[in-house]
Amino acid sequence: MRILLAEDELSFQRLLEEKLSTWGYDVVVAVDGIAALQILQSEDSPRIAILDWMMPGMDGVEVCRKIREKVNEPYTYLILLTSQQRDEDLVIGMEAGADDYITKPFKHNELRLRLRAGRRIIELQNELLAAREIFRTKASHDSLTGLWNHEEILLILAQELSRAKREEKSVCVIMADIDFFKIINDKHGHLAGDVVLRATAGKMHFLMRSYDFIGRYGGEEFLVILPDCCLESAAAFAERLRLSVSNDCIDTPEGMIPVTISFGVAAYCKDRMKDAYSLVKAADEALYRAKVNGRNRVEVAPDDGMMA
Ligand code: GH3
Ligand code: MG
Ligand code: MG
Ligand code: MG
Repeated sequence: MRILLAEDELSFQRLLEEKLSTWGYDVVVAVDGIAALQILQSEDSPRIAILDWMMPGMDGVEVCRKIREKVNEPYTYLILLTSQQRDEDLVIGMEAGADDYITKPFKHNELRLRLRAGRRIIELQNELLAAREIFRTKASHDSLTGLWNHEEILLILAQELSRAKREEKSVCVIMADIDFFKIINDKHGHLAGDVVLRATAGKMHFLMRSYDFIGRYGGEEFLVILPDCCLESAAAFAERLRLSVSNDCIDTPEGMIPVTISFGVAAYCKDRMKDAYSLVKAADEALYRAKVNGRNRVEVAPDDGMMA
């Protein structure tokens, strides 16, 4: 584990660095408070730090305070090095955000044990962050396809719409619906149907730009959001999605299943389709026309040239 050692007294610094290395730490050294803060605020900074109280530039307490001012994630475990002679006020140090302190001179084993306690806290915090990440992903993603779920894709749409209004840009949405999916289920079973759903989602997701969004809107329906995209490009993109789904059969345990999909495309327009509701509705109506007009096709909502 990487550790920051901020200590201006050279002989003490060397001694401590050597000890820490023997204990298996990967030591990063700073000789003043400003350098220490820079290291702790850099990306991929050490998660545990030993900070001398008295240092040129910025003292250890101030470094603690500055680190704690920011949302500190992942957490940095801070140990202050205090000096018996100077009789420093430990309450100030702990209130500034230090997790622990150790008074010079100290027994090596004592520091070693305290570092171990710090590591344990860091490890627990890592587990907590990982668990929270899993929970967040579960809450925002559809478990079958891995795409954004219904609630999340609508939240994203609301965000993209307000951004488009603010920046006077366009947004397009595409509503997609697998054709005759009920027949696929009836003929091959729901498990094969699930495989088809997952593969179809995967094919479309593969074509997305990094700033586009795709969510599972409902059963076999998907909502695509294309920020900063005009209606013409969105229609062309829907056509590419259509081809990518229908070009090859999907390999399932029940055999190769041909799949087609229909699309309805609509563009944000500051006068008519100004909110998520009217935009999704327009895409839905276009999708309905795609179904009526024979499926496996793209239909576009009427555009009256008043795009933002
Ligand atoms: P259309 O071309 O008009 O869209 O016909 P369709 O058969 O695709 O539409 P319909 O709405 O009649 O049927 C959708 C089917 O999708 C019915 C439902 O059981 C199935 N479905 C919804 N969610 C899932 C799922 O998670 N897994 C599977 N296997 N089937 C699902
Ligand atoms: Mg010092
Ligand atoms: Mg449907
Ligand atoms: Mg369908």
